[in-house]
This record gives sequence, C-alpha cells and structure tokens, in this order.
Amino acid sequence: MERYRVQPNTHVKLKEWDPNDKSLFPDGGKKKGRKALLALNARLEVLQEKLYAESKHKVLLILQAMDTGGKDGTIRHVFEGVNPQGVQVASFKKPTSIELAHDYLWRVHQQVPAKGNIVIFNRSHYEDVLVVRVHNLVPKSVWSKRYEHINAFEKMLADEGTTIIKIFLHIDLDEQKERLQARLDEPDKNWKFNPADLSERKLWGDYIKAYEDVLSKTSTEWAPWYIIPANRKWYRNLVVASIIIKTLEGLNIQLPKVDFDPKAIHIE
Ligand code: ATP
Ligand code: MG
Repeated sequence: MERYRVQPNTHVKLKEWDPNDKSLFPDGGKKKGRKALLALNARLEVLQEKLYAESKHKVLLILQAMDTGGKDGTIRHVFEGVNPQGVQVASFKKPTSIELAHDYLWRVHQQVPAKGNIVIFNRSHYEDVLVVRVHNLVPKSVWSKRYEHINAFEKMLADEGTTIIKIFLHIDLDEQKERLQARLDEPDKNWKFNPADLSERKLWGDYIKAYEDVLSKTSTEWAPWYIIPANRKWYRNLVVASIIIKTLEGLNIQLPKVDFDPKAIHIE
C-alpha cells in the first residue's frame, strides 16, 4: 500500500500517477475483485467491532475526488457488512449561511470521530482550498494560509488520539466523461446527473493544480494522503479497503478485559 502513500514534502504531479494502475492485483478483474473484496469486508467488520468495543481509538477517513470520482461507491462497497453503529458518514456540501458565518473548520470539527468510532468524510475541509480556490470564493491571501491551518488542525486531532487516513480517488478526464455519459444513458442513474458537473469539468485543469497543491502540502506523518488509482472501481475498492484494514491492524486494538471469571459464573 505504501506505493500509494504521498511522502511528506514531495512535489506531486498527478500525471505521474497512473489512474489505471492495478499493480497490487495484476491479474484481478471485476469478478475476482468482487470476491476478494468480500474477504476484506469480513476482516473490516471484525476490526470495526473491536474498535467499537475497546472504545479508545478514533478513526477519521477523508475522501476527496473530482466529480464522479467514486466517493459514494467507495463508501458503499468498502463498508458493506460493517455494523452501522460506530461508523458515521459526514458529507460536506456548499456551506450554509450559518456555516459561512464561522471559520471554515468550525463545521468540520463538530463531525470528527468520538472514541471507538470511524467517521468517513465525504468531501471535507479540503474543499476550502479546492472549490473555494478554483472559484475565487475567497481571495488567495485567505485560502493560501489554510494549508498551514489544516496541518495544525490535523496534528491536534492526531495528538489527541485520532488516526487520520486521507484518500484521493484519482480518475482521468476520459473516465469522467464515461461516467457522466452513463448518468445520462441509464435511467436509474439520471438522478445523479448534475448539469453543474459539466461546467466544473471545464475547470479540470484548475482542479488538478489545486489537488496537486493539497497533496504536496498536506501529506504529513500524522495525516498521510494516499492517491488511489480509481479508473477501475473494483481495484479502487480493494486498495481503499486494504489501507483501512492495515491501518486498523496497526492500532493493536484489544477487546476490553472483564473483571470477572466467566467460567466461574453459572446462570440458573
Ligand atoms: P458529491 O458531488 O460529493 O457526490 P452531491 O452530488 O450529492 O455530492 P453536490 O451538491 O454536487 O452533491 O456536492 C456538494 C457540492 O458542495 C460540491 O460541488 C462541492 O464542491 C461543494 N462544496 C463543498 N464544500 C464546500 C465549501 N467549503 N465551499 C464551497 N462549496 C463547497
Ligand atoms: Mg455532485
């Protein structure tokens, strides 16, 4: 998994990251991938239950991607079978007027995980240096200071016991075209089509530049970014699931010790 991790202070050029890569499962495919994912789902289920039972660690998974990048599908498939108790999804849309009346981290901090919980951010505070930058929603003098705030904010969370994993789902322009077209062609997918996605698509290059800055400036020891090849959905799911599992395994989660001898207890 390390191959997808962005080392701190590297200058990321997304052209050098292949969205079609499948080197971890070179002879995988849709069918094999689905089967392999079932096994990972089962492992994740067990780990999440222990995490919840121990109620010590907090886990924050941040998902970012271009439109149609697959955030929703990743959440649905990777967390399939996991007990919804103890896992929450927080989606960050256009800020409300109350949210806009506060600093940009205000709404985010309210949603971070409590002990024993996993919280998945579907979009995040990174929008405040992505869409906000691309659309000049605040001046450069304001957004350019945010990388530093974000690193400090995430460091604070990490110091206070939160494990942070940041995932960028990397698709290319052709793949986006296919996915947008599918939303037009397949009646069941029409609801997902948002005409505004077409004007955002025209700004692809600006978004890539903004993402490259995010990935270069905010991948840290305490909150690393992973760039996931995401043109193939099955591969994307396997890699994301594997990263989460590996991270949870690294936490050495222990089921709580009981202060009685279960064998000594006889139930009438
Ligand atoms: P998604 O596109 O994430 O699957 P969706 O299609 O359900 O979600 P949208 O309304 O398209 O809903 O997505 C949320 C929108 O909110 C995105 O266009 C995103 O850029 C925007 N957004 C999120 N955070 C901010 C922010 N801080 N400032 C401005 N816009 C934001
Ligand atoms: Mg959308």
